[in-house]
Amino acid sequence: MDYTINQAGATSVSALLSASGAATEGLKAVWLSYPTATFVPAARFDEELEVAEGTSCLRTYDEGDCMCDALYRVVGELRMATECTCTFGHEGGYQLHTILGDACNKKGKPSDIALIRDLAPVMASQAICDEGKAIGRVALQALDLFGDEIEPHFTKKQCPTCGCDAFKTFHVLVSKCTGCGKCLKACDDDAILGKAKFVHVINQRKCTQCGACLEACPEGAVVRAGAKKPKTPPKPIPVRRK
Ligand code: SF4
Ligand code: SF4
Repeated sequence: MDYTINQAGATSVSALLSASGAATEGLKAVWLSYPTATFVPAARFDEELEVAEGTSCLRTYDEGDCMCDALYRVVGELRMATECTCTFGHEGGYQLHTILGDACNKKGKPSDIALIRDLAPVMASQAICDEGKAIGRVALQALDLFGDEIEPHFTKKQCPTCGCDAFKTFHVLVSKCTGCGKCLKACDDDAILGKAKFVHVINQRKCTQCGACLEACPEGAVVRAGAKKPKTPPKPIPVRRK
């Protein structure tokens, strides 16, 4: 979640969160926007840090958020913030953004981690624009702080938090399904099993995560889940809802 901040100078993330009225429970990290341009993990929320003049946004991340996706978005924002066309800032930023976007969409390659680790320090030192330098710096920082979340996107095509949309799965809640069949009709991939008055079931192997069933269900029985999946039957069962 994004919060507006208008405080510069020496402070702490805890003080900024408190001043913004942000909930702190369950947070694992925050991002302070450019020109401060830094991630801060929860363990350092009480440490003093210098917030640069002009830093306007504090973004919070909880356990369900993916830090690979977080880095992808931050790199995209920093790229948009500069009109510089220098090789390392502009081209390097494009390359990093593309690599991270692929990783968040199940297309990461193990060799891309080494590519980021090669490219990022060069960007941090050689980019002409400050935004380009910041991209290199935060990419390295994120890998160091959140490598256990980011690297599986490349090495195993996995998202440990399931925070990336491409890794989320769709499920039908037994407690809400009326067996109306509207989701089944909406699914073009033949990924839903069910018949009238039976709780419908999504076949995860066939589901392409298009979201059409979620839109079609009038009961709010279809949900999208991250790492925590609802318990669902393996095949359709009679509707329990009265
Ligand atoms: S998300 Fe799309 S493919 Fe998956 S079950 Fe729903 S409608 Fe079918
Ligand atoms: S999941 Fe929703 S749309 Fe599908 S059968 Fe159940 S109530 Fe109907």
